[in-house]
Amino acid sequence: MEPVVRLENFWKTYTSGEVAVHAVRGVDFAVFPGEMVAVMGASGSGKSTMMNTLGCLDRPTKGRYFLDGIDVSRLSRDQLSDVRNRRLGFVFQGFHLLKRTSAVKNVELPLLYSPHCPPRAELRRRALAALERVGLAGRANHLPNQLSGGQQQRVAIARALINEPKLLLADEPTGNLDTATSIEIMAIFQALNDEGKTIVMVTHELDIAQYCKRMVVMRDGRLVGDKPVEHRLSATEELARTRREMAAANLADRPAENGGTP
Ligand code: ADP
Ligand code: MG
Repeated sequence: MEPVVRLENFWKTYTSGEVAVHAVRGVDFAVFPGEMVAVMGASGSGKSTMMNTLGCLDRPTKGRYFLDGIDVSRLSRDQLSDVRNRRLGFVFQGFHLLKRTSAVKNVELPLLYSPHCPPRAELRRRALAALERVGLAGRANHLPNQLSGGQQQRVAIARALINEPKLLLADEPTGNLDTATSIEIMAIFQALNDEGKTIVMVTHELDIAQYCKRMVVMRDGRLVGDKPVEHRLSATEELARTRREMAAANLADRPAENGGTP
């Protein structure tokens, strides 16, 4: 089986003035169809640098990057943006939605100015379907500031799905969200993975990595760990369990209405 993404001796060096920062130092990494991988590691270890390359937002300084078997490491910025448009979806920690733009238009945006844009009616149909897919049917005309953080991230996931990519990349997608909302977001990623999407996501929380199938660890620009997730969690089961516990706690807290236990 051919990997969806493959990095070969990937280096990324940033130079500002005299100083060179070796953000990633010779990483070999492959992800196969159907995987759901958590990329972990301390702040500054190179996770975002690697994700940005996987997402065709940036190019390696040295080494090669194959996406669906195609060497994309030497493509121009325009070519990269075309590849990005056709093959993958990217979700950011900070949602990156346009503020004065409705949810449905935010979702349409990646295709709107692309040569692969379907006719308007079809684009709208797809955007609404993507919103429904993430549980936001009925919120299509809301502006981002009329939505909670979790809902904004769902819009961002719908936007990442608009080009029907096989590969979804996410850089700390739950980093700005509380625990319960994070698990809801993980439920969406797990459902998408169950449908066959390949997912790579950065997180520095072990709890969140536990919803993935495989965990890799970066340190100082190198991959230092790579193992399957044992005892993988199901986000829908966790949500159901949390709701049961909250309902039980509410019952226990509620003062007895008739002044005593029946
Ligand atoms: P992480 O996502 O794991 O926190 P990053 O990939 O953002 O790590 O950063 C890795 C290293 O590269 C850090 O030392 C960071 O300061 C540096 N770095 C990241 N982006 C740039 C940039 N655009 N210019 C210079 N240095 C950068
Ligand atoms: Mg980062």
